[in-house]
Amino acid sequence: MIETDGGGGGGGEGSGLEMTPETMRRLGYRVVDALVERWSGLREDRAWSGGSRAELEPLLREDPPASGRDAEEVIERALDEVLSRAGRIDHPRFFAFIPSSPTWPSVLADFLAAGFNVFQGTWLESAGPSQVELVVLEWFRRWLDLPEAAGGLLTSGGSAANLVALVAARERAEGSGRPAVYLSDEGHTSLERAARIAGVETEGIRTVGTDARFRLEPGSLDEKLRADRASGWRPLAVCASAGATNTGAVDPLCEVARVCRDHGVWFHVDAAYGGFAVLTDRGRSALEGIGLADSVTLDPHKWLFQPYEAGCVLLRDPRGLDEAFRVLPEYLQDTELGLQEVNFANRGVQLSRSFRALKIWMSVQTFGLSAFREAVGRGIDLALTAEERIRSSASLELLSPASLGIVCFRYRPRGEDRDEDSLEELNVRVQARINEDGFAMMSSTRLAGRYSLRLCILNYRSRRDDVLATLERVEAVGAELAGG
Ligand SMILES: *Cc1c(COP(=O)(O)O)cnc(C)c1O
Repeated sequence: MIETDGGGGGGGEGSGLEMTPETMRRLGYRVVDALVERWSGLREDRAWSGGSRAELEPLLREDPPASGRDAEEVIERALDEVLSRAGRIDHPRFFAFIPSSPTWPSVLADFLAAGFNVFQGTWLESAGPSQVELVVLEWFRRWLDLPEAAGGLLTSGGSAANLVALVAARERAEGSGRPAVYLSDEGHTSLERAARIAGVETEGIRTVGTDARFRLEPGSLDEKLRADRASGWRPLAVCASAGATNTGAVDPLCEVARVCRDHGVWFHVDAAYGGFAVLTDRGRSALEGIGLADSVTLDPHKWLFQPYEAGCVLLRDPRGLDEAFRVLPEYLQDTELGLQEVNFANRGVQLSRSFRALKIWMSVQTFGLSAFREAVGRGIDLALTAEERIRSSASLELLSPASLGIVCFRYRPRGEDRDEDSLEELNVRVQARINEDGFAMMSSTRLAGRYSLRLCILNYRSRRDDVLATLERVEAVGAELAGG
């Protein structure tokens, strides 16, 4: 059973929730061993594992036990019955959605932050950690070329960051009229949700057209803003993508910035997954103009190799966050220190906040920035490798070229004239087969109405062989299913 003995040396006066130092060490080492084992065997493991509700209910449904069980057994059960049944988002052939592959120091940092139970809401309660958050935000600010005064906060993710940005934009918007937000049809759905929460009606979520490469058309944006102002709308913000989730497309940021300036509208850039491409030369030129934004969303838990959760929002003028979010209840009056001492709780929606900056800080300290540049560049390279391989294949059709780690394509049997429905049905089956057998994990999307397979290659572990073998498998499974 659990060895509890009032670890503080209280001689039997400890509560039933304490553990002896020996027990804590033993359990901690067991967890480290389990993690290292998982990480070392990742490439040989399945890229995906899951289970239906019908399977999982009988396995896990139960009342909480009144008295405790053996702690090691509880860990084993969590490993066997729970954690094993989930996608391996960090598997080198997990190419679905937007993958995430944390580094080991960042995982340790989350353990440390939890163990020290840092309350990252006020400076009074977390001086060192708050300073580290400022330092990390300053790194990001410089990477993005935002002005010196820019600042922000770390959030749970891109959705929360987009929400914080749109609320700040709403507070700054002048004039009256029904609020409206502008994004392309490739804009992330979290922006629609954020707009709704920020008080924009469905009709006020204005969709702007895209070009053949899925990039927002600044000309259409300009016309729409003009027409909407004339008919009584109040534009709150324009949201451009720097790495659209479907295709990796980057909107023409400089031109969108100009249109926003002409119309006096807040310019938000959703760079949740794509933003860290600025660490490479190619990414930096693809994202040119990002530094002109009034606000930028970043997701370190995507392309900066951090474990969930870590998002970030930066504002050109961070006072906008204070204006939108600051409160000071009496019971927090002690937390008002100098103006220099930032209370991060006043910059967003959370009061109790975890110490997310530590993982970013520790992993960058450990590996150095050049290792991160190299890892981001590797994703860009591998997506180009995939594009070349698709172009040279007789049975694969490129639907959207490599852009910031994403490539879209489909299987198309050589020499056959299939209609769209038949191609879709075939590709749905190819995708299901590959995901089910666990070799790789791919997701799908729809581009200009066509069902598309999609690879998103962001993992620092992925190698050329992982990408090529996955495409080969698409060809082989496609041929088998098409012929059968
Ligand atoms: C992932 C993503 C989001 C949402 O971020 P979460 O961290 O999942 O909340 C928003 N925008 C883009 C472009 C994304 O890729």
